[in-house]
Amino acid sequence: MSDAAIAPEGASKKLHRDLRRAGTDVWACYQCGRCSAGCPLSGFFDLLPMEVIRLAAYGAEETLLNSRSIWLCASCETCTTRCPNDIDIARTMDVLRERALDRGYSPAEPRVAAFHKAFLNSVRQYGRTFELGMIGAYKLSSGDMLGDFKLGLKLLARGKLRLLPSSIRGKAEVRRIFRRSRKEG
Ligand code: SF4
Ligand code: SF4
Repeated sequence: MSDAAIAPEGASKKLHRDLRRAGTDVWACYQCGRCSAGCPLSGFFDLLPMEVIRLAAYGAEETLLNSRSIWLCASCETCTTRCPNDIDIARTMDVLRERALDRGYSPAEPRVAAFHKAFLNSVRQYGRTFELGMIGAYKLSSGDMLGDFKLGLKLLARGKLRLLPSSIRGKAEVRRIFRRSRKEG
């Protein structure tokens, strides 16, 4: 990480408030690096998990919300499990993604953002994922029409993708959760 990247950009009170609400005390980090050493995706990140935590403590929101790491994180929680200070790094990544969208930042990895959106819309609509519909929505919004095409055909042939959506009994409750989380920001 360059010196420019760690230059404080003005503490973001709201970012700190969101992180506190998510139960993340970024100031507890003493930069031991255990999170970064265990992250299976760190080779693709532009900021290591430990750098994300330090920048969050500085309130360097601009750098964080423009980073690829927050979108490439797979939420596997390896980092969170390895942290000796109980810092929830995976949840921090969630908060940063939400914040990037709220503040109108263009996701540094647009296809990942398109996938998140298609997944959430599917759950909101049916109470669970309808894979075929979700893939269609993702393909249309990402423009990635042919990626994994052969794999999709194989899954269809083996009956792993339902042609029609199925609903669940608690659909209304799921929609309520979405409404409530939107209301609470
Ligand atoms: S494992 Fe925890 S304390 Fe160590 S660098 Fe990562 S966030 Fe900081
Ligand atoms: S949750 Fe994200 S940052 Fe943490 S180890 Fe997994 S991929 Fe890496």
